[in-house]
Amino acid sequence: MSQPAKLGSAGEDAVLAAVPKELFIGGDWREAEGGGRFPVEDPATGEALCVVADATGADARAALAAASEAQAEWASHPPRERGEILRRAFDLIASRLDELALLMTLEMGKSVAESRAEIAYANEFLRWFSEEAVRIDGRYSVSPNGAGRLITMRQPVGPCLLITPWNFPLAMGTRKVGPAIAAGCTMVVKPAMQTPLSMLAFAAILAEAGLPAGVLNVITTSHSGEVMDPLFDDERLRKLSFTGSTEVGRRLAARAMDRVLRVSMELGGNAPFIVFADADLDAAVDGAMIAKLRNVGEACTAANRFHVAAPLAEQFAERLAARMQGLRLGRGTEPDVDLGPLINATQREKVHELVLDATARGARLLTGGELPDGRGYFYPPTVLSDVPADSRLLTEEIFGPVAPIVAFERDEEAIAAANETEYGLVAYIYTRQLDRALRVAEALESGMIGLNQGMVSNPAAPFGGVKQSGFGREGGHEGMQEYLATKYVALAL
Ligand code: NAP
Repeated sequence: MSQPAKLGSAGEDAVLAAVPKELFIGGDWREAEGGGRFPVEDPATGEALCVVADATGADARAALAAASEAQAEWASHPPRERGEILRRAFDLIASRLDELALLMTLEMGKSVAESRAEIAYANEFLRWFSEEAVRIDGRYSVSPNGAGRLITMRQPVGPCLLITPWNFPLAMGTRKVGPAIAAGCTMVVKPAMQTPLSMLAFAAILAEAGLPAGVLNVITTSHSGEVMDPLFDDERLRKLSFTGSTEVGRRLAARAMDRVLRVSMELGGNAPFIVFADADLDAAVDGAMIAKLRNVGEACTAANRFHVAAPLAEQFAERLAARMQGLRLGRGTEPDVDLGPLINATQREKVHELVLDATARGARLLTGGELPDGRGYFYPPTVLSDVPADSRLLTEEIFGPVAPIVAFERDEEAIAAANETEYGLVAYIYTRQLDRALRVAEALESGMIGLNQGMVSNPAAPFGGVKQSGFGREGGHEGMQEYLATKYVALAL
């Protein structure tokens, strides 16, 4: 990955050839035990791009052993130096944005423009946590009876297991790896099998930036459950940070409790997007385009359902449908493509099934809703209005470019509908009245609120959910705390 690649077919081969395809354990690139490999697919064609090492349980244990061996030395590494390694990695990524964006598009499908945006966002976590590394502090206080002193210190939690999903192949990694490095933790990282290449490229960059051997270890596997499970019984593991579906997160959280591990969970969402009668309609439609279509709708923060005040509902639906109709579907590497394919056939079938379920119940299809011919897992931007309350589109995470619209009469009705879900990650509110905005923001059961904006993600902000969207926060000052443990020293004077 030393030379920035140019976009185009020669660039694709060069970029793919430059990524290491092995496991990264103890500072070395190595084959999986037994030499197994699995293919990484291009979702725009359904064809294999390359093969990567398919780790076994023994490889996973070797990765944790390497992390455990490196832990004490890494924890005592000067915070300034830990921060400087992150900062060097930030500079390297910024200088290779084009080739990393192309790589991400090849394995994940979204347009190169979107991949560039993700890489810039992902990289900001490195810059943010490079600055946070030197701000780990403690407390000194007088005990209430005056007879003693209370000292607290913040120390690294220890070796962590970091598991990331396919939808943001780099950002979901840097959001964990950045604070872990800054805090002085070592780690085993497991990217999703659909998108291991961005993480492998990132590991190579961290090594180039001077990260000592064993601090970061990367396992790629096509059998995640079986391969990772033994780590949960291993005394050396101290923390699990997981981003993925609520279904898998629930199981892994339960498993982690067998050994009372520290746990952070960033899980699924079902974000309501509420447009009140006093909203700026143009701004709401602009925000809806971002909240719905960023990452082809494959985002935990994607607006999943649109609750629009009855007087605006028709106009909002028509304008959103008109904007979505004009978008161009295509392989993410082609110029001027707005929307790439979905990640795989299963995901596309699920999205289509949800649309068919809603239309069968009486929803009105304004645009999209038909499976395109040809190869790749494309799905057209789709808008449905008058979506009945019992439609699966409103209760399940869609993870695709489909916008179901429901009209409401009273604020309380919209709030109740928004909260009627097991999820609580993010909600979007469009209103020009400050008192309404604050009243609704307080009433919504959600970890994050987008107020008159369609995107909340920001490395300086505490990202995370309530209810079954998870617990713990990533980014912001809070993101560091997930990797630190408090020790209290009682002192008699
Ligand atoms: P997923 O199926 O839950 O997988 C997430 C990760 O867990 C992948 O690396 C997966 O590996 C791994 N995994 C699955 N089963 C495992 C097991 N038994 N043991 C260890 N690892 C296991 O989720 P996904 O389909 O990749 O991602 C989409 C989901 O992530 C959506 O629900 C989305 O909302 C959520 N998400 C949440 C956030 C957030 O911050 N809240 C951000 C992004 C995405 P393999 O795929 O290789 O099996």
